[in-house]
Amino acid sequence: MSPLRPGAVIGILGGGQLGRMLASAAAQLGFDVLIYSPEDDPPAGRLAAGAFQADWDDAAALSEFAEACDVITLEFENVPVASVEIIERAGKSVLPGAKSLSVSQDRLTEKTFLNDHGIPTAPFREINQLDDIVLALEALGGYGVLKTRRDGYDGKGQAWVRLGHGGIKEAWTALGERPCILEGAIAFDCEISVLVARSINGATMSWAPPRNSHEYGILARSTVPSGLSKTVEDEARAKAMHLAEALGHVGVLALEFFVLPDGTLLANEFAPRVHNSGHWTPEACQTGQFEQHIRCVAGWPLGDTRRLFDAEMINLIGDAGLVDPATLKLNDILTLYGKREARPGRKMGHITRRLGPRKD
Ligand code: AMP
Repeated sequence: MSPLRPGAVIGILGGGQLGRMLASAAAQLGFDVLIYSPEDDPPAGRLAAGAFQADWDDAAALSEFAEACDVITLEFENVPVASVEIIERAGKSVLPGAKSLSVSQDRLTEKTFLNDHGIPTAPFREINQLDDIVLALEALGGYGVLKTRRDGYDGKGQAWVRLGHGGIKEAWTALGERPCILEGAIAFDCEISVLVARSINGATMSWAPPRNSHEYGILARSTVPSGLSKTVEDEARAKAMHLAEALGHVGVLALEFFVLPDGTLLANEFAPRVHNSGHWTPEACQTGQFEQHIRCVAGWPLGDTRRLFDAEMINLIGDAGLVDPATLKLNDILTLYGKREARPGRKMGHITRRLGPRKD
């Protein structure tokens, strides 16, 4: 693909805040963005040049969308692979591509793929029926987390279970008796993630890994530097780059890790897209994740991912997103997603703080 020229149209599947920030970065590089989303009035649609509202299985709308775009990307990892195939049949590329999507959409396929490519994860077992849970718990140390194979996010579709305690049947029912995996509980020291970008020509670059803390299963804060040794950080970055290569991924992806007290890295999951734990990159690095992703799908060379500042990113969730501008600190860099309604657990915006020039 020859590099896109200014005025070209980039389509984005999904209309949430990630699409909104991608659309903003694309506009800065001179592109027009069209959003495709089943949602009415999605946050990204109001910032883009145009928006299609249609379901994921609407073949006519997908073909029309493909027709209107030069290249298409996504901000939502659960876009059905069948929708991507419709677009591809209409003659347009979807980047990152069906492989990254299909692997990441199913936790069993994802964890198997990671292990097969030399990226260790927590031990896990496939769960298809209630009886499998006890057998898996016996094999995995008696305590673990049941996760639906598909459609889980932000701690949803998960339930902790312990051998010898009640609640196993309840957990199975609460998750809808759907195909699951059971993961052994990991006593980690901290969690980090690596954001990596891979260009159309196969060049990869990663950013410094942030340390991430979660509240109620939702990312609350990301901080750089992580405080981990360079050896551990470099290993995490190498693993993420290896994953992007193994998938033939084009664009940004995020690989999350548990870090054990001895520095061992266990991958948790990856997102085949820009990621909440990278929201500090535009303010703290030479090139941020949104611009980098657009560069990748436009067939441009990668920008420099060098980190210039120590920084933290704090998510504004639920009512915290109803920011009173008078309470902002002088160095708060605020991004709000334009969501018209705050609901518990809903990501409304984030604040990035530069904590001074990079010191490490
Ligand atoms: P996930 O949706 O898989 O990213 O899980 C959400 C959060 O739950 C993670 O960021 C961890 O804090 C926690 N968690 C998930 N899986 C495990 C595990 N196997 N052991 C310990 N904590 C976990």
